Amino acid sequence: MLVLFAFILGAVIGSFLNVVIYRLPAGESIVHPPSHCPSCGHRLGALDMVPLLSWLVFRGRCRYCGAPISPRYPLVEGLSGLLFALAAWLHPNPDVGLLLIWAFTALLIALSFIDIDHFILPDSLTYGGLILGLLGAALWNEPQNWATAWRGALAAAGLLALIAGFANLVLRRGASGKAGWPVGLEHVYLAAAVAAWFGWPWGVAAAALAVLLNLILRRPLPLPDALTLGLAVLGILVASYGVLPQSVLESLWAALLAAGAVALAGGFYWAFLPEEEEGEDEEPVAMGFGDVKLAGMLGAWLGFGPFVVGLLAAVVAGAVLGLLLRRRKLPFGPYLAVGGWVALFWGAQWLQAYLSYLGLS
Ligand SMILES: [Zn+2]
Repeated sequence: MLVLFAFILGAVIGSFLNVVIYRLPAGESIVHPPSHCPSCGHRLGALDMVPLLSWLVFRGRCRYCGAPISPRYPLVEGLSGLLFALAAWLHPNPDVGLLLIWAFTALLIALSFIDIDHFILPDSLTYGGLILGLLGAALWNEPQNWATAWRGALAAAGLLALIAGFANLVLRRGASGKAGWPVGLEHVYLAAAVAAWFGWPWGVAAAALAVLLNLILRRPLPLPDALTLGLAVLGILVASYGVLPQSVLESLWAALLAAGAVALAGGFYWAFLPEEEEGEDEEPVAMGFGDVKLAGMLGAWLGFGPFVVGLLAAVVAGAVLGLLLRRRKLPFGPYLAVGGWVALFWGAQWLQAYLSYLGLS
């Protein structure tokens, strides 16, 4: 019964997700105007909006003008229904945990299709998902407890920001990226460098101080990426010789947490308080910053260990499909979303199996 209800609910939510996927990137209101045929503009009645069935009954055409309707609509509705049903089957308690899993599923579907269409992951969905994951943890211990959620969010965002940082450094042959004003990626790398040596609160404090100095001096302080990223690696190496008060794992973990904190806070500034800058994507960038925010969201929902499992699944799936489709430019968001959804149910289990295979637990 629950599974059947979940399928119907998922299909209904899916038809709403179609609206979100179509209108959100265009900057249109989600609720107004009411749904209409994109060809003839005729307002849709209740009969036209029954998920899946309308498309099947009217054979994929508009009832008023006969224009074909993209199979994308029933596809999203069907996928949403199936995933909601699967979630209810895997988590057969109709509790707040299941509601959160459904919300997580809906967010990931919307993010994936928007990324496929436009190569963007809207901030309202990634930060909205991050905040919902943290709220669930704070209020209900679902799906993770609070400590796992916030640390997972920061470390996951930090991991992707640092991977992107090193990849960009290689792409630019050691040259620094354009400095952000008043906060930019250079502060993310500075946070990682200081945190690797002294612990994560010092990393965040150093980045905050550098931003403050920028504002006081009214010009960007030079922070070469090669220097900060190099110091981060050096700190972790030195920690492995037992010279620092923190162990190598603590040093690495501190770098991830501090980088993630600065990346998510800086990204929040850029997302919601932007003073419009001219052309943003002039430099070769290995990974969009939207992926960093999506990673932060996934980390809050999964915890760091299962997030890494999902990330590895996403990288493998992305590499295989990229080779099969022979396309250069593929959005990474959908892979992360699939990896994240799978990891929500099986990530902890797979991680445990792998660790005990290594003899670590
Ligand atoms: Zn029409």
